[in-house]
Amino acid sequence: SRFFTLSRYPEGRPERELFQLETQTLPDLAPGEVRIRNHWLSVDPYMRGRMTGLHTYVPPFELGKPMEGGAVGEVIASRDERLKEGDLVGHMGGWRDIAQISSASVQVLPDFGVAEQAYLGVLGMPGMTAWTGLNRIANCQPGDNVLVSAASGAVGSLAVQLAKAKGCHVVGIAGAANKLAWLESLHIEPVSYRDRSAEELGDAIQLASPKGIDVVFENVGGTCLEAALSQLNEGARIAVCGMIDSYNAKTPVPGPSNLAQLVVRKARMQGFIVADHWQHYPDFLKEVAPQVVDGKLDYKETVKEGLENTPDAFLALFDGDNTGKMLVKLN
Ligand code: NDP
Repeated sequence: SRFFTLSRYPEGRPERELFQLETQTLPDLAPGEVRIRNHWLSVDPYMRGRMTGLHTYVPPFELGKPMEGGAVGEVIASRDERLKEGDLVGHMGGWRDIAQISSASVQVLPDFGVAEQAYLGVLGMPGMTAWTGLNRIANCQPGDNVLVSAASGAVGSLAVQLAKAKGCHVVGIAGAANKLAWLESLHIEPVSYRDRSAEELGDAIQLASPKGIDVVFENVGGTCLEAALSQLNEGARIAVCGMIDSYNAKTPVPGPSNLAQLVVRKARMQGFIVADHWQHYPDFLKEVAPQVVDGKLDYKETVKEGLENTPDAFLALFDGDNTGKMLVKLN
C-alpha cells in the first residue's frame, strides 16, 4: 500500500516537500480488521490543525506515521462478520490507497442512490457541519437575514442553501467570479471579499442585505468576521465554524477591531465542533438526503486525480481552488 506521512510540522503555509509518499507491505489481517481499497479521499481545512504538534480537539498527525482523513472505498478483505467484500464504506483511513484498519471505526455507506463520494461532502461531515451550525448553534429561523463566508465551499454551499430553503434572505461571501455566479444561480446574494477592506466588505454586505444580519455562519475570520460584526442586528447569532484565514498564520492574528458590536447588538457568538453533535447525523441524513436526491440541493465537487496529488489538493484549499467539496479520486 502507498500512504503519505508528514516529515515535520510546518510553520505558516506547509511546503509540498513535507508530505512524503511511502510504500509498505501490509501484514495479514488480524481479527477485527478490514482491508479497504480507497476510491475517494477527502482533504479538509481542519487537517492543517493536525499539522501543528499541538493537541486541540483532535491529536496531531504523528510524524513519519500514515496520515489520516475521511475516505470512501470498497472492502477487499475482512475479518469482521459485519463487513464483507464489496461493501462500500466510509472511514478515517485516508491519505493512502489501501487502508487496513480496525473495523470498529468503519461505517457501511447508507444507500440513498447518490454517488459514493457524496458521503465525504454534502451528505458527510461537511454537510453535517452546515446543518449543525445553522440549526443547532445559530438557531436560524425563517425570515432571518443570513450571512455565510466561504459560501461556495463544501460547508458554506450547503449552509446557504439550507438557510434559503428555510425562507431566509441569504448573503454568501466568496472569492472567484465563477463561485459568485454559482451562488447567484442559487438565489443567494453574492459578495466578493477580494481586494476589500473590512469596511468596504461591510458596505457590500449592507447593500446585499439592507435589513442587517441576524445569523452569521463564519468560516473565514479576518476581514470577513469584522465586516459581519459591523452589520449585526440586535440579538444576532454567530456560529463560528472555522477561521481558515488564520490557519497558516505564523504569528497570532489580531482579533476583530469591532468585537464590541457583540455588546451593542446583544449578539451571541459560539464556536462548535461537528463531532460533538454526531448523534444527530441520522436526523441530518433524514432531512437532507431526500433533498439531494430530488435535486433540490445543489452540490459541486472539485476533483484531483491520483494519490500522489493529495497534498496538492489539500494545499489548494488555501488558494480557493475548489468550488464545493475538494476530493481526490484514486484509480
Ligand atoms: P471549503 O470547501 O470552504 O474550502 C476552503 C475555502 O475557503 C476555499 O475554497 C476559499 O474559498 C476559502 N478561503 C481559503 N482561504 C481564505 C482566506 N484567507 N480568506 C477567505 N476565504 C478563504 O472548506 P470546508 O467547507 O471544508 O470548510 C470551511 C470552513 O469550515 C473551514 O474554516 C473549516 O475549518 C471549517 N470546518 C469546521 C468544522 C467544525 O466542526 N467546526 C467541520 C468542518 C469544517 P474562496 O475562493 O471563496 O476564497
